[in-house]
Amino acid sequence: MINWTNRLGNPQRPGDHTDPETGLLVCGVCGEVKQSRIELLGRQEVVPVACRCVREENAARKESLAREEAAYRLAQRRTNCFGEDDKKAGFTFAVDDRRDVQLSDRVRGYVQHFAEFRREGRGLLLLGPTGTGKTFYACCIANALLEAGYSARVTNFAQIANELQGTFDKQGVHNALLRPDLLVLDDLAAERDTAFMNEIVFQVIDARCAAQKPMVITSNLSAQAFFKPDTIERGRVFSRLKEVCIPLSVTGTDRREEQLRRRMADDLARLHSNDMEAK
Ligand SMILES: [Zn+2]
Repeated sequence: MINWTNRLGNPQRPGDHTDPETGLLVCGVCGEVKQSRIELLGRQEVVPVACRCVREENAARKESLAREEAAYRLAQRRTNCFGEDDKKAGFTFAVDDRRDVQLSDRVRGYVQHFAEFRREGRGLLLLGPTGTGKTFYACCIANALLEAGYSARVTNFAQIANELQGTFDKQGVHNALLRPDLLVLDDLAAERDTAFMNEIVFQVIDARCAAQKPMVITSNLSAQAFFKPDTIERGRVFSRLKEVCIPLSVTGTDRREEQLRRRMADDLARLHSNDMEAK
């Protein structure tokens, strides 16, 4: 008899018994045979076969490996998307307070219909004052798409300029911006207004448009400033964006400001209670 030691082996376990008719080992758990007789090089050999227990164990192992691999790939996509920015990586719909229900619904709708928007190269332009949750929602979209198996990247033009200035491989930097299914450009129009910067902004946006790959862009500009740009350079960029991005006005109170006010009130309340205890 061949001594099967490979991983398909189905060794005898307590409770197994030998079928008196066939002389083959039977599983004490599932009742299926654990052995089979085959013809090998002109000789009868008894070889192990997988009973239901082993088949189920193998399936479970395969599933757990697939789960591990999917988690690993997701972690990798997340690193490619957010880099070291753990704060932005934590912006997900799970922590959305839905204070602006309409906006929350709209960005969720974008994620839901991303397959279509991706084919059309259509993105979003979130316009509005600082602290209203534009970056939060842009990152929620990126995170949800990462979970759905897409690639995304969140960056801004100050960061892109740094990368371009710090390498000889400019094409590599541009390719990395062109590759992901979604590119989030945070805080457009906050970058320095120089010929160098304006050229980068135009190149990146123009390349994504030409490749018909969607962008989600946030900007502190008002809708009015977007539709009536104050410089020729901005006009050139914005006219490209009008073709490919759905503009959404983000209004509402400044969340950061509100958080600060709440913390200050908490602090004052604590100071006051200490004062009382001291008396
Ligand atoms: Zn079994």
